[in-house]
Amino acid sequence: MTVLSEYDVIVVGAGIAGISAAVKAGRSGCSVLLIEQYGFVGGMSTAGMVSPFMKHDVNGDVLVRGVFAEIETEMRKQHGMIDNGFYAHSFRSASYHLLQEAGCTVLLHCVVADAAMKNGTMESVTVFAAGAEILIKGKVFIDASGDAQLLFLGDLPWVKGDEKSGLLQALTLFFRMGNIDLDKVAAYAAHNKADFFEWMDFTFDPTRIMSVAGYFAAVNKAIREHRLAPDVQYIFFTTLPGSGEGSFNTSNILNLDGSSSQDLTRAELAGRNQVHQIVTLLKNEIPGFEDSYLIETAPQVGVRETRRAVGEYVVTGEDITHGAKFDDAIARGCYGIDIHGQKGESSIMEHLAEGMYYEIPMRALLVKNSDNVLAAGRCISSTREGHSALRIQPTSSATGEACGALAAAAVASGRSVRDVDYGEVQDRVRYNISKR
Ligand SMILES: Cc1cc2nc3c(=O)[nH]c(=O)nc-3n(C[C@H](O)[C@H](O)[C@H](O)COP(=O)(O)OP(=O)(O)OC[C@H]3O[C@@H](n4cnc5c(N)ncnc54)[C@H](O)[C@@H]3O)c2cc1C
Repeated sequence: MTVLSEYDVIVVGAGIAGISAAVKAGRSGCSVLLIEQYGFVGGMSTAGMVSPFMKHDVNGDVLVRGVFAEIETEMRKQHGMIDNGFYAHSFRSASYHLLQEAGCTVLLHCVVADAAMKNGTMESVTVFAAGAEILIKGKVFIDASGDAQLLFLGDLPWVKGDEKSGLLQALTLFFRMGNIDLDKVAAYAAHNKADFFEWMDFTFDPTRIMSVAGYFAAVNKAIREHRLAPDVQYIFFTTLPGSGEGSFNTSNILNLDGSSSQDLTRAELAGRNQVHQIVTLLKNEIPGFEDSYLIETAPQVGVRETRRAVGEYVVTGEDITHGAKFDDAIARGCYGIDIHGQKGESSIMEHLAEGMYYEIPMRALLVKNSDNVLAAGRCISSTREGHSALRIQPTSSATGEACGALAAAAVASGRSVRDVDYGEVQDRVRYNISKR
């Protein structure tokens, strides 16, 4: 087997968490390898086409800065962002820019297929790169795969789904449409408020992002007439920088597991079917969509929830709703519990009171039974409820960046990640844990 040298830090998965971890470790002087199975970076932010970024500020205090803010700045320079909504292509190029500038090595089209452990230390990963098996050694490993794939491969502890029922959140295939008459959409919604969610702001300002969610009557009628899959509950889209463009978070795919290839295949097919039905409904029946068209569906179905790490601390739903604070805080968030329910399960959306936020402890990144493996992003150590809040993009970036900082502190002093004092990590990510 080919051995492709050794790196200080190996990051598995180039979603927003992996990118943030790699950039931080690279800037801190580490040699960093970021491995991604697709031919592009971004994970759910690009392969899943998830937009916009969820709320991450309280009373004017922006909770996530650092690499996340730099990605935003780059995207704004490219006119790829409006408010918190953005294009996947812009996210990709902004991320490449930061990764290159930080001196990270990025290996695309490469699947991590095995991990070798010895006495609690991960020694190497084996990757499949265009049919060849390559062994790569590292000092610190960061699981930013979203699915805790690295822990699974290294036989490290993880859990999946609801603690009692094992249920996983619904899957959604995003899609993008163009040439929507947004003035007409806004006027229609303003005259039919009962047909939309109460939280909607019914004004349309082309310089701001607009969120439209509802069309309950048309959706229910189409379901009754067997023109729409019965699992679709409403139509939800947010606008994008291009005039008349919308990003649709509408399809609803149930009873499938996003960590199984067979289930993912079923989800891709079901999602594309639903998109076809939804686009037809919009074009034929919804004011403002008469001349619209489908631009693209996401390269892969959006996966909200699969495996989670079991770490030295497990972030709970109560930590989220009570705004927990920790001595070893390394990130903050203000997004509430958000579970997109499965069949037979109600959805939950519990917003935090305005002004409230919670902290995330460094221990939630430290994977049990290992001394050099960290978890970043949506697979950090949490309960299902905790995960449903922590999984959003800004928070995933912040926990990723903290992993990069912790890995760099360990490498610099030749210590285990467990022996790094949390104060050292806090000093490296101060902008994400204290008010400015
Ligand atoms: C339908 C949906 C709607 C959402 N809505 C919002 C929203 O409106 N706002 C918001 O902020 N967040 C939202 N989220 C949440 C958010 O998008 C994700 O939780 C977040 O982007 C996760 O980032 P991550 O880096 O942890 O993981 P991911 O983005 O999943 O990245 C993991 C990466 O690892 C790679 N990978 C996995 N296994 C391997 C392997 N073995 N070898 C190599 N590479 C591997 C994957 O290809 C992927 O690129 C939504 C998510 C979904 C699915």
